[in-house]
Amino acid sequence: MAGAPAGDPYGTFVRTGPGRFLAARTGLPRPPRLRRYEEGQDLLTGPALVTGLSGARHVDTVRETLRAAGASLDAGTGNLGALVVDASGLRTVDQLGELLATAPEFKRTRGRVLVLSAVPADVEDPEARAVQQGLEGFVRSLGKEARGGTTVNLLRVADGATTSLRSAVQFFCSARSAYVDGQPLVVGPGEPRPVRDQRVAVVTGAAQGIGAATAEVLARTGHHVVCVDIAASGEKLAAVANRVGGSTLHLDVTADSAPRTLAEHLADRFEGADVVVHNAGITRDRSFVNLDEAAWGSVLAVNLGAPIRLTTALLDHPGALAPGARFVCLSSMNGIAGAKGQTNYSTSKAGLIGLVQALAGPLSERGFAVNAVAPGFIETPMTAAMPPVPRELGRRTSSLQQGGLPVDVAETIAWLAQPDAAGVDGQVLRVCGQNLLGA
Ligand code: NAD
Repeated sequence: MAGAPAGDPYGTFVRTGPGRFLAARTGLPRPPRLRRYEEGQDLLTGPALVTGLSGARHVDTVRETLRAAGASLDAGTGNLGALVVDASGLRTVDQLGELLATAPEFKRTRGRVLVLSAVPADVEDPEARAVQQGLEGFVRSLGKEARGGTTVNLLRVADGATTSLRSAVQFFCSARSAYVDGQPLVVGPGEPRPVRDQRVAVVTGAAQGIGAATAEVLARTGHHVVCVDIAASGEKLAAVANRVGGSTLHLDVTADSAPRTLAEHLADRFEGADVVVHNAGITRDRSFVNLDEAAWGSVLAVNLGAPIRLTTALLDHPGALAPGARFVCLSSMNGIAGAKGQTNYSTSKAGLIGLVQALAGPLSERGFAVNAVAPGFIETPMTAAMPPVPRELGRRTSSLQQGGLPVDVAETIAWLAQPDAAGVDGQVLRVCGQNLLGA
């Protein structure tokens, strides 16, 4: 169990006796302790209940998946570790009423709630499509009502998505998804490619923050990690690479030579990358009217221009990518919702979503995949540099009432990078604790 994130003095105080007392008397937020991944831990903190509403199609797959992962399906009458509600077959407004019957089970769930739906765009009948779309509102609201670190998410399961559904259920039910809350995700069909003995991942901006955590989690999940950062990151980058048994590549991702250098490095030294994480990013915050060309240009160049140029070079250079390679881009909640003082940053991060959507089709024809994660407020050097009031607001204005940790984003990236998530493609997954300022 992790305590309050480092650098969160209120989160630490409110977990002391006087802090708890004060918060209870005044109604101040009491952020729950989040259960995060630890080696050897059980998937769930209690038994799982998998329930199918009218026309449910995935109950057996989910039950098998949870059983295989060591979960008990003997739901009993005590607390549940997970509640999975298969609502994918609901077709009428009247049938939506079946959700109400799950309220007592929701009340006793301490961990994960997953709702399964169809992909609304695949449903022809207008009422059935409306009903399936309605589940998003249900999930987003339930996420706001859940307490104690319980998360609620929606998996939109396409026909033939069994492999990815299994993978998604395992991720979303586990402690690895601690900070993913109130989010919909399309899970499509797709079979994993055979995995190489030594998978190779490249992470840009790996010297600190989310990039360093991503290098660690990818190394833990069986990758040699090529840790990329600017020359000035020197010893910090080396320390990360040493810790994860990876290697370093000093590279300014905006340099003219960067695309070619990276492509040749991956092709010549590693026979291609299995995973590419476009993580390097910067902020230069100021109001639009005060923005100069340097503050605009540098943010757009690092955050958006570089991922476009690097991806193009990797796709063009023979041998730079291994079969089945998966890209993950670091977008941001602010690229979805916008943020005062961040027109430059939000433009770059929304642009990355456009890049993912544009590339998903053509890449999948070549057996590759591309997704984005959109972090909310994460405790890193980037957010430590924010002024105190917006920083505190960023932390508390989420359903989980706290900032996330770099590892929360890293776990999500590592899941999206996994071969058995093959059917998750062209998606944007927010890792934001259901931030209330987000769209
Ligand atoms: P950070 O500032 O802690 O680390 C960013 C890293 O990128 C640094 O090591 C830096 O040296 C490197 N970098 C910057 N410019 C580079 C360049 N030109 N070439 C190579 N490396 C370069 O940032 P973070 O908070 O860990 O964020 C990582 C990513 O996640 C960024 O893309 C950021 O926009 C995104 N993000 C972060 C948050 C958050 O709350 N921290 C929220 C949303 C999105």
